[in-house]
Amino acid sequence: MKKYDAVIVGGCASGIAAAITAKKCNPKLNIVIIEKLPRLGKKILATGNGRCNLTNLGAEASDYKNPAFVRMVFEKYPPEKVVDFFGSMGLLTYEDSEDRVYPRSNMASSVLDTLRYEIDGLGIEVICDMPVTQIKKQGDGFCVNGEFFCKKLVIATGGKSSPSQGSDGSGYVLAKQLGHTVTRLYPALVPLTVRDNVKPLKGIRARNVELSLRAEQIIKKTKGELLFTENGLSGIAAMELASVAEESLESVKCKTFTDVDFLPEMSSEELVQYLLNVKKVKGYCDCDMLFAGVLPKQIGIEICKAEKLYSQNKKISQFTHSDILKVAEKAKKFTFEISGTKGFANAQVTSGGVTVSEINGLTMESKLCSGLFLVGEIVDVDAGCGGYNLQWAFASGMLAGENI
Ligand SMILES: Cc1cc2nc3c(=O)[nH]c(=O)nc-3n(C[C@H](O)[C@H](O)[C@H](O)COP(=O)(O)OP(=O)(O)OC[C@H]3O[C@@H](n4cnc5c(N)ncnc54)[C@H](O)[C@@H]3O)c2cc1C
Repeated sequence: MKKYDAVIVGGCASGIAAAITAKKCNPKLNIVIIEKLPRLGKKILATGNGRCNLTNLGAEASDYKNPAFVRMVFEKYPPEKVVDFFGSMGLLTYEDSEDRVYPRSNMASSVLDTLRYEIDGLGIEVICDMPVTQIKKQGDGFCVNGEFFCKKLVIATGGKSSPSQGSDGSGYVLAKQLGHTVTRLYPALVPLTVRDNVKPLKGIRARNVELSLRAEQIIKKTKGELLFTENGLSGIAAMELASVAEESLESVKCKTFTDVDFLPEMSSEELVQYLLNVKKVKGYCDCDMLFAGVLPKQIGIEICKAEKLYSQNKKISQFTHSDILKVAEKAKKFTFEISGTKGFANAQVTSGGVTVSEINGLTMESKLCSGLFLVGEIVDVDAGCGGYNLQWAFASGMLAGENI
């Protein structure tokens, strides 16, 4: 049986960060990363639309599920430390107006190449094409796949979102083999599906909308871009509702809806005034143009249709005061009934995971099994879009690496 000081199971964001940090802290350590795919870091290449939004300078523990736990990790590894980690390897970054950090090259491949060359340079062994299926506690260490023995073991296998990028949920089985509890899992950051017919709006984007997810009461609100798909709602504002929408559909007996405020920056009164003015100056135009100054034209048409106030060749001047009130109200609250989400196959993140009460947030070591570390998305921590999830993956990986 081959012996190592540390085996890292899973070679993507959190596992690589753990391996590099451990080796830098103690160059004598004999470390191997075992990855099931043919190459390391496949998911990193897909992040940030190929640009890799690797952290967010504004990320705070309160942005995440289980904030008290995340706070312990971020006290040691805040976003600036993740930027420094990459800077120390020669990767320069920049941040956009929303504090999202990207590589200077704007290419996710630069992030992965930087990590891969660092792994080579430090002499960390990598075994690819090898899924880990069994881990057994053996004396004061672990036996991995019946082939490897190590004193320290890191499970960095991700969740079960985007299985085509390797994270197929097998890590939960490994964590359970070692006595850990896994909470209920939901796909997160994934498009919603709706019961309503949204085909006429397919491909249309509305910027800066406000969404309210509601069942018996409002459950969560988001702001941002909304993108209509063939059968649902995508874009950051919709995707950030996904895990709670799934949870609601499963647990609440009544139906789940999302109300869209297409113009959250305007009060209802301001919108009515705006539309009355459009009627005054543009009364001769077709009603397609009623909202065209503030929203994509097709959305305006659907708002009028929803109030049964749309017909071809109808002029804006034909809208009565009461019609204007109705369409203004609709634009402020356009309701869709949620039927589900596009599932784990399309999700960017898994919500749920190894319960945080079983992990020491100061080290990422298991409280149940000494020498075992759990990092990244496998842990019950997740957040919205904008670099937050990679921040968690890198920070928790680095903390574990330091404590190996
Ligand atoms: C399309 C997409 C875009 C995203 N964009 C962003 C973004 O821009 N910013 C951001 O912050 N977050 C983004 N995310 C989320 C982010 O990528 C993840 O949260 C992060 O990669 C999690 O890191 P991880 O190391 O914990 O797990 P993963 O990155 O999922 O890595 C787990 C690794 O373990 C391997 N593995 C799994 N099981 C086994 C096993 N049994 N044996 C051996 N190896 C195994 C997998 O093959 C994989 O390489 C995005 C996700 C997706 C899918």
